Formats: sequence, C-alpha cells, structure tokens
Amino acid sequence: MIEAPILSVVAPCYNEQGNLVPLVTAVREALEPLQIAYEIVIADDCSSDDSWNILQTLGAADRRIRAVRLDRNCGQSAAVWAGLQAATGRYLATLDADLQNHPRELPRFLAAIQEDRCDCVCGSRVAARARGDSAVRRISSKIANGIRNRITRETVSDSACGYRIFRRECAARLKFFKGMHRFMPTLFRIEGFTVTEIPISHHTRLSGQSHYGVLNRLFVTIYDLFAVRWMQKRMFRFEVKARINIPPDPPAR
Ligand code: UDP
Ligand code: MG
Repeated sequence: MIEAPILSVVAPCYNEQGNLVPLVTAVREALEPLQIAYEIVIADDCSSDDSWNILQTLGAADRRIRAVRLDRNCGQSAAVWAGLQAATGRYLATLDADLQNHPRELPRFLAAIQEDRCDCVCGSRVAARARGDSAVRRISSKIANGIRNRITRETVSDSACGYRIFRRECAARLKFFKGMHRFMPTLFRIEGFTVTEIPISHHTRLSGQSHYGVLNRLFVTIYDLFAVRWMQKRMFRFEVKARINIPPDPPAR
C-alpha cells in the first residue's frame, strides 16, 4: 500500500549501517498492530559506509521502504528536508536513524496528533536524557535550550529533538536551512502552527557514533539563533482572502 499512506516515517542517515535493519524492524513492529498504511523514508546523507547498499536491499524487499541518497554530505537538516520532500503521508514523523529514541513511541505520537489538538507534536528527551547522553551533552543541551528560549521568547524544553510528528501542511511551509532541525518548533510557530511537546524515552546509540561534538554544535547554533529571531520578527504571514480569475490553492494533499 504505497498510495496515500496515513503516516510517513522519515529518518536522516549518515553512516548508520549498523542501525538501518534494526530501525526498519522496529518501525514495522511498532506500526503493524495499528493496521494503517505507512511508509518509511530514509534520506542517506551520502554515507561512506554500507548504508546505501543496505537500503537498496531493504527497498527491494518491501516497497514501503523508500530512500533518497544525496550527492554529498549536506548535514542532518538537509537529509531531513530531502526525506520530507519524498514523503507522501498525511502525517509526517521524523526520527534519528540510531534508535536513541525508539520507534515504539510512534503510535503514541500518531494518536496525539490525530486527537487534533495541535499541528505538531515534538518529543522531549529532558526527563530521560541521563540514560542516553553523557553529562557534558546533557549540560550543553540545557544551556543551549535556555539561550534559545531566551532569545526567541519560547518555552521549548528540547528544541533539537529529532522525534516529531506533524501534519503535511506544516512541512510544506517550513523554512529550511542548514541547522533548521534544531529550531523546528519555533519555525512551525512562525508559520502559525500549534506545537506541543511530550516526553520520550532516550537511549544510547545502538551502533556507530554521534556526528557532533560540543563545539561543532554550539557556534552554528548561536549563529542560526539570531536568524530565527530575525525570522520571528520579520517574516510575514497571511492567507489570500479573495481572488479574481485566480483558482483557489490546491488542497494540501
Ligand atoms: N545525520 C545526517 N547527516 C549528518 C549528521 C547526522 O543525516 O551530517 C543523521 C544521523 O545519521 C542521525 C541523525 O542525523 O540519524 C542525528 O545524528 P546523531 O545521532 O549523530 O546526533 P546526536 O544524537 O548525537 O545529536
Ligand atoms: Mg543520535
């Protein structure tokens, strides 16, 4: 069932050869009991390991597993964006490929968004972080979220958490740039969408290594932060109220 899936599960992947089969298996196990049409879209950010070969094998065996491969390593935001472009579901979930946040939480996220109370549900790792991250990582994340909230006048506890679900319309209007994956709750709100956070569990990586250290995250995040603040103040938002000889916008899907 590739046509019109209810849910697309999108994962960025850079050198995740040890995680892809467990990831796909875990998504299947999480979603099969729901008996919904779904797809898994993996965006390979030009991995140099065996990830793409594994994806080819997975895709040949199951057409619901779809993948794109970027021609160069462009970073997590670009990979998420490429995956969202290829996704066809009514609801789009994103999660990292390394199983730090487990697919078994997807049904809870889907139920939360289907209850129709908001446009985007974001995971928050704050309560569970001690299980999956080092003390340095936990502290730097706390400081980063504090500064981010102060500058953007937000109250998001874990802005960079990659585990989210949102309506297709949200992705269509999202402003994408290198580093945007750390600001998605605020970027959605800039577009007028409603966002909520719910706690998720957090674990150490199943296989492979983190692609970030404190420094390569910190400085770009500060740089991006002021761009996001600028967007909050300067981006315009409107709906067309009336038209003459111009057809209405096509429905979001
Ligand atoms: N990732 C990517 N391109 C990159 C770096 C990371 O697609 O250049 C993916 C990576 O494969 C993973 C996700 O982004 O699925 C988050 O990366 P990572 O686990 O290294 O981040 P951390 O959990 O340490 O913040
Ligand atoms: Mg990770």
